Amino acid sequence: MSSSGFASQNGAGGSYTNGPSQNPVGVYPSAQGLMAPPLPGYMNSLPTKGPPPTGPGFSSRNQPSPVAPPASPGLRAPPQASSTPPPISSYSQHPPQPSGWSGVTSAPLAPPAAPGLRAPPQASATPPPISSYSQHPPPPSGWSGVTSAPPTAPGLGAPPQASATPPPINSYSQHPPPPSGWSGVTSAPVAPPAAPGLRAPPVGNHVSGGTSTPPVFQNTMQPPAALQHAALYPAPPPQMTRPMGSSYPSLQPAYHSPPAPPQLHPQPVSQLSPSLAALSLQSQPPEALRVVNLLQERRLLPPGPVTPPTPCLPQDLQKLNCCPEVFRCTLTSIPQTQALLNKAKLPLGLLLHPFKDLSEEPITALALHSQLPVVTSSNIVRCRSCRTYINPFVTFVDARRWKCNLCHRVNDVPEEFMYNPVSRSYGAPHKRPEVQNATIEFIAPSEYMLRPPQPAVYLFVLDVSHNAVETGYLEVVCQSLLDNLDSLPGDTRTKIGFITFDSTIHFYNLQEGLSQPQMLIVSDIDDVFIPTPDSLLVNLSECKELVQDLLASLPQMFSRTMETQSGLGPALQAAFKLLSPTGGRMSVFQTQLPTVGIGALRPREEPSQKPSQKAAPKEVQHLNPATDFYKKLALDCSGHHVAVDLFLLSAQYCDLSSLGCISRYSAGSVYYYPSYHKQHSPAQTERFQKDLKRYLTRKIGFEAVMRIRCTKGLSIHTFHGNFFVRSTDLLSLANVNPDAGFAVQMSIEENLLDLQMVSFQAALLYTSSKGERRIRVHTLCLPVVNSLTDIFAGADVQAITALLASMAVDRCVSASLGDARDALINAAIDTLASYRASVLSIQQPGLLAPACLRLFPLYILALLKHKAFRTSAGSRLDERLFCMCQLKSQPLLYLMLMIHPSLYRVDDLSDEGALNISERTIPQPRALQLSVEQLSRDGAFLMDCGTVLYLWVGRSCSPVFLTQVLGVESYTALPLLMNQLPELDTAESSRLRALIDWLRERRPFHPVLHVIRDESPLKAELLQNLIEDLSESALSYYEFLLHLQQQICK
Ligand SMILES: [Zn+2]
Repeated sequence: MSSSGFASQNGAGGSYTNGPSQNPVGVYPSAQGLMAPPLPGYMNSLPTKGPPPTGPGFSSRNQPSPVAPPASPGLRAPPQASSTPPPISSYSQHPPQPSGWSGVTSAPLAPPAAPGLRAPPQASATPPPISSYSQHPPPPSGWSGVTSAPPTAPGLGAPPQASATPPPINSYSQHPPPPSGWSGVTSAPVAPPAAPGLRAPPVGNHVSGGTSTPPVFQNTMQPPAALQHAALYPAPPPQMTRPMGSSYPSLQPAYHSPPAPPQLHPQPVSQLSPSLAALSLQSQPPEALRVVNLLQERRLLPPGPVTPPTPCLPQDLQKLNCCPEVFRCTLTSIPQTQALLNKAKLPLGLLLHPFKDLSEEPITALALHSQLPVVTSSNIVRCRSCRTYINPFVTFVDARRWKCNLCHRVNDVPEEFMYNPVSRSYGAPHKRPEVQNATIEFIAPSEYMLRPPQPAVYLFVLDVSHNAVETGYLEVVCQSLLDNLDSLPGDTRTKIGFITFDSTIHFYNLQEGLSQPQMLIVSDIDDVFIPTPDSLLVNLSECKELVQDLLASLPQMFSRTMETQSGLGPALQAAFKLLSPTGGRMSVFQTQLPTVGIGALRPREEPSQKPSQKAAPKEVQHLNPATDFYKKLALDCSGHHVAVDLFLLSAQYCDLSSLGCISRYSAGSVYYYPSYHKQHSPAQTERFQKDLKRYLTRKIGFEAVMRIRCTKGLSIHTFHGNFFVRSTDLLSLANVNPDAGFAVQMSIEENLLDLQMVSFQAALLYTSSKGERRIRVHTLCLPVVNSLTDIFAGADVQAITALLASMAVDRCVSASLGDARDALINAAIDTLASYRASVLSIQQPGLLAPACLRLFPLYILALLKHKAFRTSAGSRLDERLFCMCQLKSQPLLYLMLMIHPSLYRVDDLSDEGALNISERTIPQPRALQLSVEQLSRDGAFLMDCGTVLYLWVGRSCSPVFLTQVLGVESYTALPLLMNQLPELDTAESSRLRALIDWLRERRPFHPVLHVIRDESPLKAELLQNLIEDLSESALSYYEFLLHLQQQICK
């Protein structure tokens, strides 16, 4: 293994950064650890954030500011109450109707009839009416980016907006330039402080001497199923460090545990740092620090879902903190210094799901967080220095002044803020909704817009080549649009248009007054022009009949086409020209490699990436785009508030690494349906239909920007997701959708020595589909600690895994797949080594981890076996690229299922411990370890991989399950391909269907169900997800642990 880490991921290499990135650091010397200290000299190059703000408040310096008790006596309503001014702001706790936060939405966004996709019952079922959050969970969105470029980027980046449309872009940024604050300095390249990455991976193959007595492994307990699959894994992986030659069963240790040594708590709670100890410890159980010997502990998974750690804050503050599904940090205790962070070898970063719709969340625990307060105010209170929005974590110095929790400036409380519209009382500014809610939405006054908010504009760009027509996708799209035309988010201004293309481009005149749609063909694709610009994007309500006519006739219009060429590039150029005056959403459907005109591509897939190939590739080529055409066009789109969503439906190689750029840099989404065919792949058709419905009806925000601020001393290092980076802390999102996730790597530029806590604030400014300018603000507050023990105690293993996954994707692109894999392994080694060396006070044998990180090696192994990073033969390039897209743009919740699926036994479901949601009883089986050991032949098991569900039925499965749930008389009667459970009127059937429906409706994409038996072709896919087992090209979990142990003890 070569030495490598994650350092160079910043900016992900030249071709992926859109311009001189905020992370201009190239490839680090390859001897650094994941969190290695900055290189000598490197600090000198750190851009400063400009002179510290010198406002009056700031000069009150670093006094650790005790957080204002929410109801401090000093703040009680001053006597002037009588002079209560008229309420300038109105505060609506819940916009009237359940579906729309904008308060105007009439279209129920919850698709009524899609049982799988987002079953409506749930929304309504939710006991506490979560009325006003936005309505959608995240779908598989696009390709992620590490992008980052100041608008001045020369060359590639030259973000169009800088030159082309100065006004729109800059004007929309939510902040009038602050007088002195650091946010005005944002164009300085952000430097990566923590050179995460490159530690020389000590991959030696010798077992370290004497540190541990490895547990004895016995092979006697192999269940029959395991033996049965043994033949599937013939070759031991090359990198194994154990003696070779064992057959699979012998590699599957039974984890025989010697009598457990007495539990040690080497770092009892009393050793927590004073700052932590001073805070309430209620929320941080010492369980997080329980020492676990991974080599001995067999059952790692908790009975229920893995929950994020609770920040160690005083309870009154924690109660107000942002919901972890919206905003969380890899470390819920922030290290005081970068040096301390480097020592912990853990990545510091944020995971965001900023436009998440909590209204569909059925879980009551979330309901607490899920009402979105909406405030209308002519004066949104913000820090005069850094422009932070007032939030629950500011301090009221006295009745008339508040201290910013990000830059520490003391600001005046505006007169109108003294009045509380909720309680209708005067003089208690700390009771205002802005100070009581970590997530809040403002309806923005006119100063937040430079042009009138744009209408909702939707343009559909459809591939109608022979190949496309043959897949039958066009009928599905047209029908879905016909069905959902009235549910497209928008108002009376909503516009719609269509372009189709093969080797030529076809426009459709839908102008009011025509008796039928008029097709206009432009065959000169080298110099595309728009034939009748005014009649191609039309008002939906005025021209609805023509639109319906077109949708009804489109599938037939091309049914006999023999045109095989695809001029996608020119079609995109035309679409951009059409949309650029307004901005809007471009939905592109493509079924093959573009072959003519600008942006044409050639097949690049290596033979080893074809499914027929047996040998695993050592390295994967062509992860980088073949042309910068799509990226440049995406930047033009972004500059004109146009986002491009790409639906790729193809059995052949389409070069997703090139095409994906169009969505990645324009803040769009990518959907991928490999081998889509209406007849041959009914499951994909079902998924495509459900996804489309969700896509067409989910909430959307236009001409959006998102700024992330953090307490002075912390800074942003790299962004992950689909967007264009406008400046160090500002992302352009031409569209924002409720299903998009983002990740942000952070660094500690200045020591946080005098701070007890720090805050992060994400502000998303967007135009709603009803034409309102709105700002959604999320604020997260976390404690600062000064000991490694405390840092480890607050580690959020899922967030860490997700951030590392994004970093590894960048690494693949900037360096190589092998480098990325090494870096992932090193992340696990470094972290556990640091824990052993610096936190454990009593050395003991074994591979030790704190309980809060016990799943870390397992998750890292899961990533190594994930389609994005695996080295096995037959991994298609586009599939790999798509998985990489997902890793960078899925919200954490769904991402974790894609990384580490959930496995349940389902032939013996009971109501014990079941959830009861609006009169439905939903069984909650225990999650099992992902090993073939768990699959017993006499049972049936459900594996939830996020986008796919596998129901594996054992050969000796009970007849009751076969007849009562599957509706077949015997195992052999079970069809090889089955994608639906029969609706039988039995308790067993209802239980399983309730469970599957519940799993499906909690996510924004539609997972397909495959019922499989031993003879099914899909069985291999199921087995590939059993990540604890040895596979053709990767270690078993136990072997992986041994490898880590060797490296750590070396
Ligand atoms: Zn401030």
